[in-house]
Amino acid sequence: MYLSKLFIPITKDLPAEAKIKSHQLMLRTGMIKQSSAGIYSWLPLGFKVMKKIEQIVREEQNSIGAQEMLMPTIQSSEIWKESGRYDDYGEEMLRIKDRQGREILYGPTNEELITDVFRSSVKSYKSLPQLLYHIQWKFRDEIRPRFGVMRCKEFYMKDAYSFDVSDEEAKKSYNKMFFSYLKTFNRLGLKAIPMAADTGPIGGDLSHEFIILAETGESQIYADKKIFEIDLNKYEFEDSSLGQMRKDFTDIYAVTDEKYNEKKFNESVDKKDQIKTKGIEVGHIFYFGDKYSKPMSCTIDDKSGKKISVKMGSYGIGVSRLVGAIIEAKYNNNVMKWPKSVSPFDVVIIPSFNKNNKENLIKAEKVYHDLKKQNIDVLLDDLDENMSNKFKKHDLIGIPYQIIIGSKSEGDRFEFKELNSESAILSLEDIKSKLKN
Ligand code: ATP
Ligand code: MG
Repeated sequence: MYLSKLFIPITKDLPAEAKIKSHQLMLRTGMIKQSSAGIYSWLPLGFKVMKKIEQIVREEQNSIGAQEMLMPTIQSSEIWKESGRYDDYGEEMLRIKDRQGREILYGPTNEELITDVFRSSVKSYKSLPQLLYHIQWKFRDEIRPRFGVMRCKEFYMKDAYSFDVSDEEAKKSYNKMFFSYLKTFNRLGLKAIPMAADTGPIGGDLSHEFIILAETGESQIYADKKIFEIDLNKYEFEDSSLGQMRKDFTDIYAVTDEKYNEKKFNESVDKKDQIKTKGIEVGHIFYFGDKYSKPMSCTIDDKSGKKISVKMGSYGIGVSRLVGAIIEAKYNNNVMKWPKSVSPFDVVIIPSFNKNNKENLIKAEKVYHDLKKQNIDVLLDDLDENMSNKFKKHDLIGIPYQIIIGSKSEGDRFEFKELNSESAILSLEDIKSKLKN
């Protein structure tokens, strides 16, 4: 893609309404545009990043055997009356009437809808376990939408649901999701800490929030650094190993302020390993047994022919929030750098030229086509601007690699730079092989 042709409305001014880095950067680099409070359009650059995140989330769900489906955004109020949440959910739920006067709503989450799907078709323990998920827009009429895509009214979420015959079996599904979440966040270049969360009025002990460290987060966290030393690769994808994995992670002290106990923190964590900072919740997993299946009569026959309520859990990842969360975690010294896995482009070519001397631009176009042929997703900065402005702009956009075609390049050797490190003069072949691994 040529930068001159890309729809990327970069603005020079700092947007006044944006309080945190990710929100400022997303507006300045034209990733999003606010349409009304807490509701955004995703412009090409932002959309590209979000789609890459979505794809990684999808692959890691599929790899634990979860099956993708798609439920609608609009739901009937009937099922929410059955579960008892229609009144309880309160003002965060956007309630609408259709032309017949029927009460409908824009789904803030999907426990009721999936339970309804499930009860109409599954009747026997023989079909269990099941893991189903979708990636779909949600709407919550947040009282204070803020921080750009971090707390919106309309946001994009992956939500999965597990169905099991017993608590015992349900724990296995929970552990699979726990594993999949850790792998997902690793691939996104994030260090996410699973933290025991309140289960609220539902009770039970199985609920974890996945939180990444960032000064601008909304949760205060206390954790033991050792949690980052656990190597996920040592666990096998089978029940006892995954059980051990959850134990290893949850034995290490890591809590949000709701569960913080100063004495316990100081006793169980070495001073040098204590992390006290803010964090951003990027995922939340939850086991709630028959909370929805019971009132909604979602039953199955167990082995002995007895009717039992199916045991369920739900598992969310904030896909659109992650775009902002990655920026918050990665922004450093006024330079943005996307992890390779979600960067909007693999590499940008920055030629030094002007309207009287386009030699470097012509060279750049050759390199561009050469890289394109190798399926490398490349951006060519073909705008006639001075180099210092160009570098400033690319510090904002954060493409992790740059090929600079200026005074230092000669023949087919070019200046190649990974953001936040020194540049080197490399042949095109070496550049290709660096970009490909
Ligand atoms: P929070 O505590 O941040 O309000 P929640 O507990 O209401 O979140 P869940 O219902 O667990 O959120 O939703 C799953 C995930 O969806 C969250 O971990 C978060 O990443 C994302 N999410 C929730 N609310 C929003 C929102 N208003 N805007 C963007 N993402 C959100
Ligand atoms: Mg939560």
